[in-house]
Amino acid sequence: MIGRNSLFGPVDPAADAGYADPPARKGFFTDTSVCIGCKACEVACKEWNDVPENLFEMLGTSYDNSHSLNANQWRHVAFIERPGPAGGTAGQPGQQADLPRPAVDLGMPEMGAPVVPDEAKPDFRWLMESDVCKHCTHAACLDVCPTGSLFRTEFGTVVVQDDICNGCGYCVAACPFGVIDRRRGPDGAENIGIAQKCTLCYDRLTDGQRPACANACPTESIQYGDVDELRRRADERVAALHEQGIMDARLYGNDPNDGVGGTGAFFLLLDEPEVYGLPPDPVVTTKDLPRMFNRAGVAALAMLAGAAVSFLGRRA
Ligand code: SF4
Ligand code: SF4
Repeated sequence: MIGRNSLFGPVDPAADAGYADPPARKGFFTDTSVCIGCKACEVACKEWNDVPENLFEMLGTSYDNSHSLNANQWRHVAFIERPGPAGGTAGQPGQQADLPRPAVDLGMPEMGAPVVPDEAKPDFRWLMESDVCKHCTHAACLDVCPTGSLFRTEFGTVVVQDDICNGCGYCVAACPFGVIDRRRGPDGAENIGIAQKCTLCYDRLTDGQRPACANACPTESIQYGDVDELRRRADERVAALHEQGIMDARLYGNDPNDGVGGTGAFFLLLDEPEVYGLPPDPVVTTKDLPRMFNRAGVAALAMLAGAAVSFLGRRA
């Protein structure tokens, strides 16, 4: 049954967590169709949150060398090379480079667009996506944390308290997106062994500021705001792309009836979620806990009853 403290279904997460009069839920709408892969969001996140250096080496499968989300990478911009028609044509699925986008002044010297004949263009396309913690409506990481280190904020986001985490790692196994991670290094870094992930810049939010990554993004690929408003904006953006013939544009994480009750950070993708390394149908891993506890309780009662019957039988 969906209700207060339910582990699935659409709920207001802050009210569900007990806040009496919470502000509107805050989150991210990341529109990957306008991401240019500049990685300003990664840098801003590291700068603001003092996230130490990440393992930095070529993957051999991508130009991207910040790998994936982990304890030292709270934002990760994936560069995905996909086979596709040379250069791309607007209207074909996922032709990120050719999608209509707002003009962005990056402060660079002006230069004309290169003139490349179609036959000379390489036969692939880029998909770029700035990934982050999803701030799930039903966050399994939070459900399994035995110390209360992970908590739901009044903004509906999910935050780790470094000084309370004991490094047990239950949350790492529970996250259906593989986001949360314990810090392993580098030597001398703060919070080694402690679970780390995006806080949606909780300290900035409580000060009335926007998250650092959203502030730094020059194309507004990362949009921050009230989740209800972002969902409306996302629906409009998908409809506009479909009108332009980009039929592969789809939303990911915006549906409150999905397996995690919808995510606070959701995405517009230009291909299947798996292409971006996202689970196609994520489910909160604690969904069955109430049923499991009920069954364990029934089993325990049955054992007690059996023991009592056997004891009384012997005495008789
Ligand atoms: S994505 Fe993972 S770490 Fe983030 S709130 Fe959901 S379960 Fe927790
Ligand atoms: S700052 Fe914006 S455009 Fe640049 S990589 Fe991040 S999401 Fe993409």
